[in-house]
Amino acid sequence: MSTTIQAGYLVAAVLFVLGLKGLARPRTAVRGNLLASLAMLVAVIVTLTNEAIVSWPVLVAGLVAGTGVGVLLATRVQMTSMPELVALFNGFGGLASVLVVGASSDEVLGTPAEDVTYLAAATISALVGAITFSGSVVAFGKLGESLGSWSSSLARPLNIALAVASVVLVVVFVVDPGWIWLLALVALGLMLGLTVVFPIGGADMPVVIALLNSMSGLAAASTGFAIDNSLLIIAGALVGASGLVLTGVMCVAMNRTLGNVLFGSMASGGVIQDPHDVYDGKVRSASADDVALILDSARRVVIVPGYGLAVAQAQHAVRDLTLALEKRGIEVVFAVHPVAGRMPGHMNVLLAEAEIDYAQLIEMDVVNPTFAETDVAIVIGANDVVNPVARDERSAIAGMPILDVDAARTVVVIKRSLSPGFAGIPNPLFAADNTLMLFGDGKEAVVGINTALNQL
Ligand code: NDP
Repeated sequence: MSTTIQAGYLVAAVLFVLGLKGLARPRTAVRGNLLASLAMLVAVIVTLTNEAIVSWPVLVAGLVAGTGVGVLLATRVQMTSMPELVALFNGFGGLASVLVVGASSDEVLGTPAEDVTYLAAATISALVGAITFSGSVVAFGKLGESLGSWSSSLARPLNIALAVASVVLVVVFVVDPGWIWLLALVALGLMLGLTVVFPIGGADMPVVIALLNSMSGLAAASTGFAIDNSLLIIAGALVGASGLVLTGVMCVAMNRTLGNVLFGSMASGGVIQDPHDVYDGKVRSASADDVALILDSARRVVIVPGYGLAVAQAQHAVRDLTLALEKRGIEVVFAVHPVAGRMPGHMNVLLAEAEIDYAQLIEMDVVNPTFAETDVAIVIGANDVVNPVARDERSAIAGMPILDVDAARTVVVIKRSLSPGFAGIPNPLFAADNTLMLFGDGKEAVVGINTALNQL
């Protein structure tokens, strides 16, 4: 590889690191994103100057096809479907690693370049890439709620058998390299992705998505070793490591260990109450006018956003409500649960889009002790993250830390019906004595409260 290409890769690597550093803080995130995009542009341009990698017609065809699919997805996919798209992108990363290793094996197998480093890197790419691809496709289906959770007592022994078989195949391929073993490894990886991710359900999905993200980086880094591309090793390692950190954060947020998530399905265990027992005759509904009256006499209001806020695209209406309340001298803060929404940081992005000050976004551990001094907690499109059954060790979401909104003097829950959230569990908060349900679309309900407040 020429010195110019190596120098270009070095520039791109430094830009990737600076970009990632910028993404760690909301105030520098936009700059971080731009730096990382610039790094990718430099990486692509530098790679294109290396004609030894692949022929120009193939490169141009790939660029045209990739750009076409990218533009199509970016213009067609709704903002609410972004989490599914992100899951799919992880999967494409894994698939790309499998394909690149397949292509390079075609050149390397049976030649002197077939050394242990190559063989070990190729097996990791093939296996991890295949698991990432099929696992991400299942995650895509689950996030879009087109796939449910499959669970069986056979899942654990099956996964263990597949994992052992994969390790055996890795050794066999390194000792006796051949296409048949590589293809068998990819097939096993695809099966493992399906059998591991299918049983994981309910509130455990954030952990899985972060892990799949990390695995797509690991697959890319090992592909970098296989094809001797330093930038791919660095970029893959950055994705792998940051994904692993995020996986750790999600595990802490859910009070789960990774082993527990992967091998002890949350969705399949625990008691799920009958909705009739939870709600019948106990739910009190209110109108926007009622809520405006309660808010008018409040001193402290905590707003809890959830996935429904994203569906309703209510963030701008919420900003207007915040300003209206603050004008009346009412303190307003936002309580953001780490897994609210359908992707890490989902609520932060939405609220930032509406220019809500980051200083007003309070993390779960800090805000929880303050609910007892809160006059009104307004829950907008959130459900699982405020479900008090998580405190019951027999429940299906036992141990998941929640926002303690039920400690507030009055709780107003805005959602369209009594239907459950992502974990599929009824929520007794909706039937609590201090809760009022404002049924309707999140945006329309908040606009209604705002109008009523202005008329007081
Ligand atoms: P939930 O999925 O628990 O609940 C969302 C609620 O929003 C629903 O009950 C729905 O009720 C309501 N809703 C939907 N559309 C609207 C609308 N237009 N207006 C008003 N309300 C609406 O969301 P949470 O944010 O509380 O919890 C997130 C869940 O997703 C957790 O279980 C988490 O583990 C999981 N998850 C999170 C990921 C992440 O990375 N953050 C990734 C994968 C899963 P109704 O239909 O009655 O309106």
